[in-house]
Amino acid sequence: MIPRISFPGGVSVPALGQGTWHMGEDGASRAREADALRLGLDLGMTVIDTAEMYADGAAEEVVGDAVDGRRADAFIVSKVYPHNASRSGVVAACERSLKRMRVESIDLYLLHWRGAVPLAETVAGFEALVQAGKIARWGVSNCDVDDLEELGAALPGCATDQVLYSLENRGIEFDLLPFCARHSMPVMAYSPVGQGGRLLRVPALMAVAARHGRSAAQVALAWAIRSGGVMAIPKASDAAHVRENAAAAALVLDDEDLAALDEAFAPPSRKRGLAML
Ligand code: NAP
Repeated sequence: MIPRISFPGGVSVPALGQGTWHMGEDGASRAREADALRLGLDLGMTVIDTAEMYADGAAEEVVGDAVDGRRADAFIVSKVYPHNASRSGVVAACERSLKRMRVESIDLYLLHWRGAVPLAETVAGFEALVQAGKIARWGVSNCDVDDLEELGAALPGCATDQVLYSLENRGIEFDLLPFCARHSMPVMAYSPVGQGGRLLRVPALMAVAARHGRSAAQVALAWAIRSGGVMAIPKASDAAHVRENAAAAALVLDDEDLAALDEAFAPPSRKRGLAML
């Protein structure tokens, strides 16, 4: 069983979901990618994260393929480009995303990152979409504490902040994570396995994995969701990776593991600018 996290308002989702960045870029891989997402749904990773940006909309089409005939099994997250985030632009962008995914509504719709449009205007567009039943809730991405504070009275309506968070990028532990915890706002950790790169070959991480007879990616995921206030959305097109990622939920890291990881990936001791990809 994958542990769950709760959004404000009470809806809960499994703390391990699935990313889709780079899916849809190659038409020949599209069926395999949709199959991978469906396998993830079968294994309980029901949150699927996408964006109008990914493959210029083609990732959303892959999501549409994956949820075809089983929409109720998935909790779909998509994101609007900052340059589409005016009050009317948000509505138009959402309509296009719905069409590409061939669904009636999006479960969580995020501002991908901050641009020139005032946050309040974007939020007004989001609220109009909620009223129209096109999205169930809204949130932000790549926002730091000062951005969230700027939401002011709208902050309780913000379901999440999706940010870069992994052993390699722990800056948010200093202030953003405590801020979100105080406001009962779960954080969505993107690139949680370091995009499958160098992170997974760090000796300290590999040693913890070996101690548990697990993979480095599984340790990275178990670590990311350890607090209960964070969910992780690893992207995997490879079925073996999907299986491995879902099984990471069963791994509980002990004090010895956490100390070894702190030693290799120091937690922040001061404010750092929000890291993003
Ligand atoms: P990631 O999930 O950390 O890494 C994905 C890469 O790792 C893929 O190449 C994948 O390979 C590989 N991988 C996955 N599981 C693995 C495993 N168990 N063992 C070894 N390798 C594994 O990076 P990401 O895609 O950047 O981030 C995840 C998702 O977060 C994105 O897909 C996207 O939905 C979201 N995101 C959001 C933002 C934002 O600005 N809001 C930014 C970046 C990402 P295969 O595909 O070959 O399986």
